[in-house]
Amino acid sequence: MKSSVVTPIKKKRQVERRATNVVWHELLVDKATRSQIKEQHPCLLWFTGLSGAGKSTIANIVEKKLNAKGKHTYLLDGDNVRYGLNKDLGFTDEERIENIRRVGEVAKLFVDAGIITIASFISPFRSDRRLVRNLFEEDEFIEVFVSAPLELCEQRDPKGLYKKARAGEIPHFTGIDSPYETPEREHIILSTDTLTAEQCADQLINYMVDNGFID
Ligand code: ADP
Repeated sequence: MKSSVVTPIKKKRQVERRATNVVWHELLVDKATRSQIKEQHPCLLWFTGLSGAGKSTIANIVEKKLNAKGKHTYLLDGDNVRYGLNKDLGFTDEERIENIRRVGEVAKLFVDAGIITIASFISPFRSDRRLVRNLFEEDEFIEVFVSAPLELCEQRDPKGLYKKARAGEIPHFTGIDSPYETPEREHIILSTDTLTAEQCADQLINYMVDNGFID
């Protein structure tokens, strides 16, 4: 049986686990060099919105369109990340915050690698989205609000999650018993109640062209 007593050795290991004696190591190859090779401007497209709003659907189409333009991309999807990197996290407020913090840091590494990165996460809290935004330069970050009324998302219910949440089987479900804080500083709104997924993807691609993110 495991002992819960904190021995001096355990305590030392806990302290060592935190990054204290760590010094940033300057690398010889930097972001500019990496993105020059790719002839692209790396950035993060951060998709936020209710479950079922259409984030993953549109993010996939956008990635395909960017690839067709010869852009090197990577899509970080909420559910997929929870299979691996974040499989130790649940859906309490604290765990959601940690989920987004880790994804923000991973996205930063991808952007540093010169990649146009797409992140599709409900990310319900404004403060978390602000934290992610603050990891990037202004010309590296686009907050994409994928908007649809809760009733429509619930009707779509592509993964049957709202049904389960209404039945009390999923606690802390965004829109049901956990809040979604509507963006106030988004760069673009994609309204999936009035536009098709394809039209929304085109709207975002046009935004990227108009604002110099891609040619
Ligand atoms: P999210 O990633 O936001 O949870 P998904 O993309 O997984 O949402 O699911 C959205 C569902 O809504 C899909 O089944 C999709 O086919 C459907 N849908 C209907 N209209 C649209 C639209 N205009 N944009 C995006 N998805 C739409």
